[in-house]
Parts: sequence; structure tokens; C-alpha cells
Amino acid sequence: MPKRVPTLKARRKPNAADTDARRQEDQRRGSASSRGYNVRWRKARITFLKREPVCVCCTANGVVHPANTVDHIVPHRGDTSLFWDTSNWQSLCSWCHDNVKSSIERAWESGSVTTAALTLNRKVSGWIHPQTRD
Ligand SMILES: [Zn+2]
Repeated sequence: MPKRVPTLKARRKPNAADTDARRQEDQRRGSASSRGYNVRWRKARITFLKREPVCVCCTANGVVHPANTVDHIVPHRGDTSLFWDTSNWQSLCSWCHDNVKSSIERAWESGSVTTAALTLNRKVSGWIHPQTRD
């Protein structure tokens, strides 16, 4: 049970400082292939998305959108057993991954929500997918 219900903040366009920060973060954590996102991952990802093709977060919030991202519920941080544990995977659309999950993950990293909040097959306060807006 989360300590508080995470809410989503309005997004703004990234600026030069954001781009620099992202570049530094990429340098710190290494390339995608060095983090395990290799051919084996790409095949496993496709298999998982065929089995679970719908975004679990969109579904929980009342709409059906195709998933295109296999998210590690608990960030693996290089832990290969956590990386390959399919019970730690959830299908998300890129919007939910880049907005909802990243926001909740930051809250989790700061200790303001528990690990249970990282599983997104539930209602999320403030969730408004752009494809549901007028
Ligand atoms: Zn979604």
C-alpha cells in the first residue's frame, strides 16, 4: 500500500539543462546493450508483448491502448535475475511508461511510496492519457 497516492505533474518541454542531465545519466548508467537490452531481450520483449499486448495502466484507468513497452516493475539496476524475472515485467504504452511510471518511480526512489506503487494495474490519480482528451 503506498504511503500516499502518487499524482502526476504537468509536463514541460525539455530544455538544454534537461538534455545535459539526460546525457550525463546515460553516461553514468551505460548504453542500453550494456544494461542488458540485447538481442535476447528484444526477443523476450516481443514474446511478452504478444502475450500481454495491452497497456495495464490504461486498462486499469478505463481505456484500451496497445502496449509497446515491457517495463521492469522494480527497476533492475543491473540485477540480472530481476531483469529476467517475467513476474517483474508489465506491459505499458510509451505514454504511461514515460509519464506515469517515471513519476511513480521517482516517488519510490525518494521513499515517498512503497514498491507496491510501481505495479500499474490500478487506478492512478491524475491519469489523463492524451488520447482520451477532447
Ligand atoms: Zn498506457
